[in-house]
Amino acid sequence: MAIHILPPDLQQKIAAGEIVERPASVVKELIENALDAAADFVRVEIQEGGRRLVKVTDNGVGIAANDIRLACERFATSKIASENDLYTVRTFGFRGEALPSIASVSRLRLLTRERSALLGIEARFEGGKLLSLQEAGASLGTTVEVWDLFYNTPARRQFLRSLRTEYGHILGVFTRFALAFPEKSFSLFFDGRDVYAFQPSSVQERIAACFGREAAASLAECENSGIAGRAWGFVLAAEEVWRRRYYFFVNRRPVRNRTLYRAVRDALPGEGGMVILFVEVPPSHVDVNIHPAKTEVRFRDDLAIYDLVRGALQRRTLPSWWQTGRVAEQEVPYGTEEPTNKFSLIGQIENTFLLTLADGHLYLVDQHAAEERVLYERLQNGPVQRRQLIAPQVVTLSVEERTFVDDHQEELAACGFIVDPFGPQVVALRAIPEFVEPKESALIFTRFLTRVRLQKEEFAQALACLGAVKAGQALPRESQAQLLQQWSQVANPHACAHNRPVYFRLSLDEVRRKVGRTGLSCEFDKAP
Ligand code: ADP
Ligand code: MG
Repeated sequence: MAIHILPPDLQQKIAAGEIVERPASVVKELIENALDAAADFVRVEIQEGGRRLVKVTDNGVGIAANDIRLACERFATSKIASENDLYTVRTFGFRGEALPSIASVSRLRLLTRERSALLGIEARFEGGKLLSLQEAGASLGTTVEVWDLFYNTPARRQFLRSLRTEYGHILGVFTRFALAFPEKSFSLFFDGRDVYAFQPSSVQERIAACFGREAAASLAECENSGIAGRAWGFVLAAEEVWRRRYYFFVNRRPVRNRTLYRAVRDALPGEGGMVILFVEVPPSHVDVNIHPAKTEVRFRDDLAIYDLVRGALQRRTLPSWWQTGRVAEQEVPYGTEEPTNKFSLIGQIENTFLLTLADGHLYLVDQHAAEERVLYERLQNGPVQRRQLIAPQVVTLSVEERTFVDDHQEELAACGFIVDPFGPQVVALRAIPEFVEPKESALIFTRFLTRVRLQKEEFAQALACLGAVKAGQALPRESQAQLLQQWSQVANPHACAHNRPVYFRLSLDEVRRKVGRTGLSCEFDKAP
């Protein structure tokens, strides 16, 4: 093919691909525009994971009637004028690419009114082309509605993940801005139901609103300043949060950045932990123009920033509960009975069977089946012990699952799951069965729902199976002994919750017979 220049609409679609990857990217760009317009109120409405609608309403300065056409042209911005401005930019936007990119892959409606205007303006675009522009009644500020995202780029649309995934990304974006601007009101609606409504508040209160009171109360504060700038924020130590959850903000812009990541990783031991970190540096010391979506930044002096952040984290104060006693997550002893175990443990083989000896038999106990039985009986004997989660686990569900959860609150509670409604398709796990690992709770919860809802398994049966140790999992010796001990106490040790056998045993007498070790033949090889 000879070299040729691509037609403008294809150029625009390619450019859009860099900025609008998924509905959450639209949410991000529109919230940024609202904040750049000095709004102190931002309302986000989503339908069908953002495929059908992303709508953001603000009470910012609005767009002048004459500027509407331009706002949706590439490289049209009101935020910078010259290259120099690039290095001092304090607004989120400056590339003038978001609106045209979004418009080119959706049906876009814009309703806006400036303070000085009596009437607002409504503009409609389809695939980036202006369809109509007319006066319309509007309150001060701007509403952008993005309908049918990727309707004209089917390949792109196919890349969208499940509703659950898209809602998860949107929630992540929304939460980040809400944390960065606690002094502003933010609200979020999923399919007409409210997920969050945040009033202006302190950062601590905003954190509590996002992650729950318990998480907020457990946060340690940190702060450090130097010539490089200032770093401050909040840390929840590793044991409390199983998964890394890092929220980084540079001059209030939510970002990803390796230097910050390294500093945190090096300062905090362990795998998990939640860190909310605000870095304030002179705008000229940070380059925000290295990524089309501006989610990554580069510091002029990485080392100085590394030291600044590491220093902050090393000097963190203890959270308030440290002095006043823990707020949650009481540890429940796992099997406190005196050991009356007739089984003597030899060890684990193939990470699957416990090899043990009792009453003249060698037992091969299937570790999964044995624990499944233990948990099954515990579940049948009344509500199980719960473990409160310090940072509630947010789980996104399908509409059907959500309805199922609403209809079965009681059964779920009996199984140890305390579930708070959050949004139409989002719930927060506040407590989980004591035998479930917090870091696996979301996964186990969704699998649990599938098994009871679709596969029509009994609640206790499904949960016992999901909560039990798997075959192939190495167990430390104490856990082997503990499991054996618990299993030896159950009412029916022979079958798992699904009625499969738990063990196979071999009589030592039989073994003796098989190898010809009869009373008379082998006297001489007995140990003295
Ligand atoms: P950028 O934010 O990089 O300038 P955008 O494409 O996001 O580019 O927006 C283009 C222009 O449209 C902005 O510079 C701004 O002047 C105007 N604009 C967009 N959204 C809003 C809004 N919510 N309120 C006021 N003005 C807006
Ligand atoms: Mg913008």
